[in-house]
Amino acid sequence: MVDMDKIVSLCKRRGFIFQSSEIYGGTGSCWDYGPLGVELKNNVKRLWWRDSAQARSDMVGLDASILMHPRVWRASGHLDHFTDPMVDCRACKRRFRADKIDEEEWVHYCEATKGNKFMIPGGEACKHCHHLRSLCPACGKGELTEPRQFNLMFKTFMGPVEDDAAVTYLRPETAQGIFVNFDNVLQSMRMKLPFGIAQIGKAFRNEITPGNFTFRTREFEQMEIEFFVMPGTDEEWHQRWIDERFAWYQRYGIRKENIRLREHEKDELAFYAKRCVDVEYLFPMGWSELEGIANRTDYDLKQHSHFSGKTLDYFDDESKQRFVPYVIEPSAGADRSALAFLVDAYHEEEVRGEKRVVLRFHAELAPLKIAVLPLLKKNDRIVETAKKLTADLRRRWHAVYDDTASIGRLYRRQDEVGTPFCVTVDVQTVGDDKAAADEKVTIRDRDTMEQVRVPIGNLDTVMAELMAGHWSAVAGQHGIVKNSSGVSEVRLKTTNDGRG
Ligand SMILES: [Zn+2]
Ligand SMILES: [Zn+2]
Repeated sequence: MVDMDKIVSLCKRRGFIFQSSEIYGGTGSCWDYGPLGVELKNNVKRLWWRDSAQARSDMVGLDASILMHPRVWRASGHLDHFTDPMVDCRACKRRFRADKIDEEEWVHYCEATKGNKFMIPGGEACKHCHHLRSLCPACGKGELTEPRQFNLMFKTFMGPVEDDAAVTYLRPETAQGIFVNFDNVLQSMRMKLPFGIAQIGKAFRNEITPGNFTFRTREFEQMEIEFFVMPGTDEEWHQRWIDERFAWYQRYGIRKENIRLREHEKDELAFYAKRCVDVEYLFPMGWSELEGIANRTDYDLKQHSHFSGKTLDYFDDESKQRFVPYVIEPSAGADRSALAFLVDAYHEEEVRGEKRVVLRFHAELAPLKIAVLPLLKKNDRIVETAKKLTADLRRRWHAVYDDTASIGRLYRRQDEVGTPFCVTVDVQTVGDDKAAADEKVTIRDRDTMEQVRVPIGNLDTVMAELMAGHWSAVAGQHGIVKNSSGVSEVRLKTTNDGRG
């Protein structure tokens, strides 16, 4: 299995993800998406939006503001219940989650050995004095406070005065923006049940123990759907959404052995939830949640109706009945999805005795789609043609031009960031004293490293075919050619498919 350090290092080296405020020493658990990372994440969001909001006649979109009326969080239960029990060290002032503190390695000054310092694994007793941890695990000296409830919402002030009346919160989830707009959407769009509202946006949680790269962060982006249904049809719709979302990740390349569904136990469920199923991915740190799909019943709409005094219900023309719809909530993380696609795409192979790192992204997810590479950068006609081709291709796809290394190295660079296709321009393309131009270019496939030679005039059509995943059809039509650089790139064996 690829370890997270390799992914973190590739992400930094190749411009996917940087630590936030790095020149100041970094900010805890905040990450910045670099030039290739923003393309990847935007592609994840675009595909989700296209498939969830645009391709379905029973869905519409929304973009609610991050700051909301403080009473929203009273109604949703976040003010009272979105808390973790925390203890503080009276000496070093560090803060720990009371329910997780015994999982941490602890510092111990042992009286049985003249006060020597030991590091003892979480939950274990000292081998010398047989005592369990009672003091602060970090400094080993401070007494801990009694547990206190610590709210995970980021508090801030709206307007120029910092007093209690101005307190508001950065939203801890995008879902509430959908619930409070239920009636606006219903009326303005004349929606009929069942229908859903999709939203992508930032949410904020002051997590005490963030970590695992972009998996758990304090600022993150959600892709959420609230799907409103008639009570009684909720269980069937819930199952449909579980199947749909589970298939979605695999449609864009997640291998089926690395993804699974996990049913929540009864004691994990929120008191109002009927059922919840997680889509889990096998990350380097183990199986972890990518998306939660919950049947939230009519709880949220009823809460907002109660706290706002506004009726939030639905009149069914056929049955002449008025009721509060049930809601199915597929709630996915954009950052987690991008990370899962990245980890799943990562492969190490051996090619001609050398290691090749390749990100096998689905073409729709790849940050760059095409790299145009001149075989000889000192040949003006080759360079000019390659640059013109890049400009033409850019009108439709994200294409780049690169002539800063030898062709073999340029291929490796593109493999490492997952560019599905490289187009090379060589002497035959532009012609010379001995031979006339054939006006063809070579297209190289990232995964097979096979090459086809196609007329420049057909490049747009061929590329569209290739982006749709039809390499073997195109190769069958045009025939595989030997590498134009004279180098044969035969893959010897896969040393690490990223999963072991
Ligand atoms: Zn301490
Ligand atoms: Zn001891």
